[in-house]
Amino acid sequence: HDVAELKRLDLAHHLPAQADHKVIAELGGSRIVTRADGCYITDGDGHRILDGMAGLWCVNVGYGRKELADAAYEQMLELPYYNTFFKTATPPTVKLAAKIAEKMGGHLTHVFFNSSGSEANDTVFRLVRHYWKLKGQPNRTVFISRWNAYHGSTVAGVSLGGMKHMHVQGDLPIPGVEHVMQPYPFGEGFGEDPAAFRDRAVKEIEDKILEVGPENVAAFIGEPVQGAGGVIIPPDGYWPAVEAVCRKYGILLVCDEVICGFGRLGQWFGHQHYGIKPDLIAMAKGLSSGYLPISAVGVADHIVAELREKGGDFIHGFTYSGHPTCAAVALKNIEIIEREDLITRTREDTGPYLAKALARLNDHPLVGETRSLGLIGAVEIVREKGTNHRFLDKEGEAGPIVRDICIRNGLMVRAIRDSIVCCPPLIVSHAEIDELVGIIEKSLTEAEPILRA
Ligand code: PLP
Repeated sequence: HDVAELKRLDLAHHLPAQADHKVIAELGGSRIVTRADGCYITDGDGHRILDGMAGLWCVNVGYGRKELADAAYEQMLELPYYNTFFKTATPPTVKLAAKIAEKMGGHLTHVFFNSSGSEANDTVFRLVRHYWKLKGQPNRTVFISRWNAYHGSTVAGVSLGGMKHMHVQGDLPIPGVEHVMQPYPFGEGFGEDPAAFRDRAVKEIEDKILEVGPENVAAFIGEPVQGAGGVIIPPDGYWPAVEAVCRKYGILLVCDEVICGFGRLGQWFGHQHYGIKPDLIAMAKGLSSGYLPISAVGVADHIVAELREKGGDFIHGFTYSGHPTCAAVALKNIEIIEREDLITRTREDTGPYLAKALARLNDHPLVGETRSLGLIGAVEIVREKGTNHRFLDKEGEAGPIVRDICIRNGLMVRAIRDSIVCCPPLIVSHAEIDELVGIIEKSLTEAEPILRA
């Protein structure tokens, strides 16, 4: 590749997603990523970088899977595309729906397909409100979500999400979305007894329901572990208590499984780790390991029964809902996860290994806490050990400074405020986990004099 020319074209014609376009311009264009294999990406300048983010929390089976390319190729030759608008479906679409239903298990029996996680949450938004109208409770329109949640970049996704800096852009949220505290022990719950903090977080949900009026609340939505919010792992007992509050007031429980689904927490879905039974779940990313865009909403049998009993079109769907080529790739991806037993491996082997490796960083003078569940983790950077005081008075935050050093040292990670988060492919080896944690440690040490200067 002529990297200089690609960078020039990038700058001249491309607006990359979620970017500070002034910074991209100063850098002379985006980093051009040209190849990837296993857990590594390679850029046009020849740097080989350990992908500690699995792309964007999605390449669960790792890069370079010829089987997935073959599945797409074969499906494209046979039937590249057809829609599901005309009382029609295609073989891979139907088989994938059945496969996902098998993995969801129990009362989650059906799926509705879309292309992205954001669209999945838009589908949740409309389906939930439609459901309550069918049920004769049209006032149940309000969604309760958590601050710092990420549910996507569409208008409904940003509104359901709890990122204040995203709300500002586009004058969101739209009416009918309320936010409550995120269950963040190292943040809102710092120094508090975990059980007391859990009860306080759950009480905030109940208080919000009572404030809005239970008869007006449609659903509570949350990621089992908040990803883009900073890998927020809730305190023990949080999710069952949230579920109990939803049941008490007859409110639907929605889990956004876009990151947690397909093995990230050591189960097929994150809600299974927490032993709860959501009424709807959104999934994307790991469904196809990011090889092609596809997402789905898992729907409980009682909602399907309502749709079937009352009838009438649910006038919602996308050109690419149930896209056969994406579905064929997703089916093959699930087959790989099964064959290589990546879920058990994450739960029993690599997940605990990552936790132990991250714990080694606890002695580092900049580290306030490390935490992980399955193969998603975070390292909190603090100014003073034993506190959660940050470096916020610095120009730029500590997180982005450490992240940039990590990338220079050959590790792609993300900074979320003053934490470094990681989410490697589920195929990651012990040696690669050691490399990942080793680079974070080295980068923290290199960053310390800069941060303390
Ligand atoms: N929900 C969660 C929990 C996510 O992490 C994301 C993306 O990061 C989304 C929804 C949005 O998915 P997409 O970017 O595919 O629209």
